[in-house]
Amino acid sequence: MTRPAERSCPPWCAQPAGHLVTEPAGPGDYHISAFTVIDLPQIPGLRDTTAIQVAIEQYVTATTTHQPMIAIGLGADDADNEALTLDEIDALISALTRAVAHVRATAPCHTQDDHGPV
Ligand SMILES: [Zn+2]
Repeated sequence: MTRPAERSCPPWCAQPAGHLVTEPAGPGDYHISAFTVIDLPQIPGLRDTTAIQVAIEQYVTATTTHQPMIAIGLGADDADNEALTLDEIDALISALTRAVAHVRATAPCHTQDDHGPV
């Protein structure tokens, strides 16, 4: 889903007005929201301290405004980001919600590690 290049920022863009720079025959630029970072503490034996980074981004070239994407990265510093469409994010959220509900509904007992935001 693309449409002709639009110079003004979408409402969610957190960059300063007029930030977008696209070269006529060169690379485009991104509208970007501020990163949301979910810090993940170390779990001994399972993972080191890390983070999940989430951002909204929209790639714009001189001729085309691409659809907004949600970028998800795993890593505390230089995250390896993957951008997903809004429909793909909806599918991911649904799958994660079902997976969490399935485990919680079938868990024989709650252990000390089985806590989280309530
Ligand atoms: Zn913008």
